[in-house]
Amino acid sequence: MSESNQTYGKGPTESILSTMNQDGSRNWLRPKLAKGKHYYRRFAVAWGLILTFVVIPHLTMSGKPLMLFDIPKRQFTLFGTTFFATETPLLLLLLLGLFLSIFLFTALAGRVWCGWGCPQTVYMEFVFRPIERLLEGSPAQQRKLDKQGGSPRRVLKYFIYLLLSMFLAHVFLSYFVGTTQLWEWMHRSPFKHPSTFLIMAGVTAMIFFDFSYFREQTCLVACPYGRFQSVLLDKHSAIVAYDYNRGEPRAKKRQRSEEPPEGAESWGDCIQCKACVLTCPTGIDIREGLQMECINCTQCIDACDDIMEKIHKPKGLIRYTSQQTLETNQKQGILRPRVLLYPLLILIIFTALGMALARREAAEVTILRGGSNPYKVLPNGQISNHIKIKIANRTPKLQKYKIKLIAPKGVSMITPINPLVVAAQKTETAVIFVLAPRAMFTDNGSLPIQFTIDNSSDYKTTRKYKLLGLLKGINPSDLK
Ligand code: SF4
Ligand code: SF4
Repeated sequence: MSESNQTYGKGPTESILSTMNQDGSRNWLRPKLAKGKHYYRRFAVAWGLILTFVVIPHLTMSGKPLMLFDIPKRQFTLFGTTFFATETPLLLLLLLGLFLSIFLFTALAGRVWCGWGCPQTVYMEFVFRPIERLLEGSPAQQRKLDKQGGSPRRVLKYFIYLLLSMFLAHVFLSYFVGTTQLWEWMHRSPFKHPSTFLIMAGVTAMIFFDFSYFREQTCLVACPYGRFQSVLLDKHSAIVAYDYNRGEPRAKKRQRSEEPPEGAESWGDCIQCKACVLTCPTGIDIREGLQMECINCTQCIDACDDIMEKIHKPKGLIRYTSQQTLETNQKQGILRPRVLLYPLLILIIFTALGMALARREAAEVTILRGGSNPYKVLPNGQISNHIKIKIANRTPKLQKYKIKLIAPKGVSMITPINPLVVAAQKTETAVIFVLAPRAMFTDNGSLPIQFTIDNSSDYKTTRKYKLLGLLKGINPSDLK
């Protein structure tokens, strides 16, 4: 993997992507670390998130994993509540509530997620980039290595990146298979679980590719959330911004002995040191105004505050503010239509979800038609319907469900296992044959019946079902 840049001929003069040279080749960004109060706060948040991500698969709640997305079994466990495949609407409601919360958060605090919470930023700036700085030195030393085309230090860096990517892929996988299963697989030959091994290898490759090569381009060209900013943000949202009222007209120290440009009483506070540009992980100049590429990482705030301190000017030339405040010099109010509408919608969604969860039954029963033939006519003239009763036990304990056919009289059932034993949070299916005399069926060949399913303690339900049989006037011999 070459990290060197080459420029061929004369490129376009207009502004292009910060990660691309004018000839279309990759511009490797080597941001300078700026340490300040925001950096230390972000460091604490980032490592808190990393530890949370690693620890969650090991935690349990009410005897269940805190989070487990069991795709083969189509069961999702979140904070001690298991959602089954038939409860997808509840899960969708939860996701909708989370999305709206992100919208609200963005309207209030801008791209705070991108700069403080997104795994791309967290792992890039607080895990992978520090390793790079440790092994390859300052941005200038890294550029020197780019020109050399490689070194043992760079090979070592990529080797450590690979190990880290494998570790993160394993943690990621444990959210889908659980830590016990993962641990078991890790002690077995990959040939015994090839598909899972391939998934792990694929996730490792994607993480390695992202943090070694693709890097900030994920935020600049791939992330859909970044593209939504223009609709999620408004003039009142908090953003990282350069105070052009205070900073302009900008000038280097030596230029300041000259008269300021016409219309300006004095020079602004920006001394054109470019510390804010050199530290930017997406390679932009915040002084050009609000840009989609800005992930609100606050590194330029720390870099500029450091310069302001050195030149004895007040800090905050770059700071958290809003476009409205910059334009009017007045503090923005929090209340505005979208900030009122989002919480209202969130409240409605979470109330509906809470009510649905409170009314959830201890089991879920589904009656299905079994086999390819809906019914059979037996030699004794009776009609046999093959059906399946699927029971999902939502309780944390093993349950025994007794299935009884309660109506109408004259109908009987045969089932090999009754009561049906279902382990905690599992689903089992009972195979049942219901026998009924032909005379009981209606002219259009149907017969309503009723079952009860009960676990002798806290769950009992009555379910209706319609048996199928011969239509009036049809003889069994006609079917042959
Ligand atoms: S760091 Fe501050 S002073 Fe330096 S160029 Fe950026 S805005 Fe101007
Ligand atoms: S402009 Fe500032 S806040 Fe935005 S990405 Fe660059 S360094 Fe981070």
